[in-house]
Amino acid sequence: MDIHEYQAKEILSRFGVTVPRGGLAYSPEQASYRAQELGGDRWVVKAQIHSGGRGEAGGVKVCSSFAEVEEAASEMLGKRLITRQTGEAGKSVFRLYVEEAADIAREIYLGFVLDRKTERIMVVASASGGMEIEEISVSDPDSILRLIVEPAAGLQDFQARELAFGLGLDKALTAKAVKVFKGAYRAFRDLDATMVEINPLIVTGAGELVALDGKMSFDDNALFRRPEVSEMRDKSQEDPREAYAADRGLAYVGLDGNIGCMINGAGLAMATMDMIKLAGGEPANFLDIGGGASPERVLKAFRTVLMDDGIKVVLVNIFAGINRCDWVAEGVVQAYAQADIQIPVVVRLSGTNVEEGRAIIAESGLPIITADTLADAAEMSVQALAA
Ligand code: ADP
Ligand code: MG
Repeated sequence: MDIHEYQAKEILSRFGVTVPRGGLAYSPEQASYRAQELGGDRWVVKAQIHSGGRGEAGGVKVCSSFAEVEEAASEMLGKRLITRQTGEAGKSVFRLYVEEAADIAREIYLGFVLDRKTERIMVVASASGGMEIEEISVSDPDSILRLIVEPAAGLQDFQARELAFGLGLDKALTAKAVKVFKGAYRAFRDLDATMVEINPLIVTGAGELVALDGKMSFDDNALFRRPEVSEMRDKSQEDPREAYAADRGLAYVGLDGNIGCMINGAGLAMATMDMIKLAGGEPANFLDIGGGASPERVLKAFRTVLMDDGIKVVLVNIFAGINRCDWVAEGVVQAYAQADIQIPVVVRLSGTNVEEGRAIIAESGLPIITADTLADAAEMSVQALAA
């Protein structure tokens, strides 16, 4: 799960990282009011969307009057902001963050990620801040510093100091830098994050270290024990199909194709998507209905797949071990009765109670296309597209 910049800053500040003062606004008038509240003579209006790259997409505006703040706010609110991270669909702007403008002397990149190879949290930093890390790795790869944290010990002072020296920070800033690095690391660890990024972390003209941007992602599987994090969820920023599936406890990933997939088991789901591709089709989603799926769960999964306006065919592929083919067939028949299905449905059943399952499909009298093997099912789905 991702959160907004202002939420990440709220968290980071709780962990001792300095952030600019700011306030949230849902309307242009409120934005102007926030600026008045903050005082000073320069403010930054920032679109709150779950994406970076807002600056170059027009989602970050420096303003020097209340009227400008109000104008920038009305420009951004209600718009879909397309950044290089959002894809063509962009993300809708419903919230703004109005912040005091900082006096930037230096911009640094600081990130915390899970490194799969070492199975540790890795700190990534670069003196070439402001740019995305992907860009830095092309334009200035030698500037990238990496550091692995031992989980039992946590980020150590000497490691944090080493990082500060590596970034060429002034000696006077070392203690502050250690505080920032350790604070961000603790936020990552204590809240089950999967990513923390401060880009840019700035040195101000007055010699302070300030997080000017903040990005955090969290492990969905740990949200149950982090209510303070899960309440930060903003569904308006999520793929509506994925938000719908997540609310129903289904493992679903939305894709761009037109063949909706309902499979049991993540491995079989991946293999089925490959087979669809091989047959010349494009999967619309990944969906694992899980083991022991009751007819009700199958129905829920069906509704989730049908949420996607772009789908032209549904492919149900079940290899029942713990599952039961008759339950799945039952669910498919119920889906016809309860959901409005106007497109071809291809069903391939195999494994436990397969005879009973096939009988239920055959006796239903519904226009369900049945297949015996995965290859046939993929082929038939692609053919059904053309029909
Ligand atoms: P994004 O990464 O989505 O583009 P950032 O928050 O990093 O958004 O903002 C982009 C750039 O805008 C920053 O690199 C910085 O130069 C400038 N900026 C952002 N916030 C402020 C601020 N409060 N004061 C001054 N400049 C800012
Ligand atoms: Mg940024």
